[in-house]
Amino acid sequence: MSTRKPIVAGNWKMNKTIKEARELIQGILREVQQIDAVEIIICPPYVCLEAAKQETEGSNIKVGAQNMHWEAKGAFTGEISAGMLVDLCQYVIIGHSERRAMFGETNETVNKKIHAALQAGLKPIMCVGETLEENQAGKTAAVVEGMVREGLKGVDPTEAENLVIAYEPVWAIGTGLAATPEGANAVQRDVIRPVLRELFGEEKGNAMRILYGGSVTPANAAELFAQSDIDGGLIGGASLKSDSFSAIVKAAL
Ligand code: PEP
Repeated sequence: MSTRKPIVAGNWKMNKTIKEARELIQGILREVQQIDAVEIIICPPYVCLEAAKQETEGSNIKVGAQNMHWEAKGAFTGEISAGMLVDLCQYVIIGHSERRAMFGETNETVNKKIHAALQAGLKPIMCVGETLEENQAGKTAAVVEGMVREGLKGVDPTEAENLVIAYEPVWAIGTGLAATPEGANAVQRDVIRPVLRELFGEEKGNAMRILYGGSVTPANAAELFAQSDIDGGLIGGASLKSDSFSAIVKAAL
């Protein structure tokens, strides 16, 4: 375990009504409201952000969005800008593999979103990770390195502390097949961390949080989080129930 403060972030994806969101947050709060040593973030759908803000007011739970557009405003039907989100949340997930695979996001659009988020004062959680085919072809390091470099192109080192990276191998997301702790750590320590040091300098690169995501559960979380360069997790399925999400938060202690 490193000295970096761990983050456990829940990506609710397209789940929960406003009422269900309130109930889930109340349940999580009952379990984790005393915990200060872990940064706890929940990322509900856009329509639940206002309720999430109200429910978490004054608590140790922070709120994030799951996506945003890079333009500030205008004729972009159905889109939401960073400026619209800053009043509701502090974090925003950018470049999740589902957005890349299903909604045409590329490293280039991810990079535009990173810049727009930072400019608006949001903290991006940038997702990177290789597909099964890329993994089996031995391309993991090259693909992940490229995603980090292109996604962060032009980002000023003064912004490093506002950035979080999530390594999420696509084959591990929602499959029940998590990466091994050693395997995930090898990518985070030997591929992602060196690029962060190169881009932002030794000290800043070492201080940045790199999360692991992909089938994290209460059963495997502690072993994953014990690795040198796994600074917490981005949690999908297990973030939809208060008991499993809270157990994962506690595993990061
Ligand atoms: C995710 O959606 O980012 C994710 C990691 O999902 P899961 O935990 O369900 O694999």
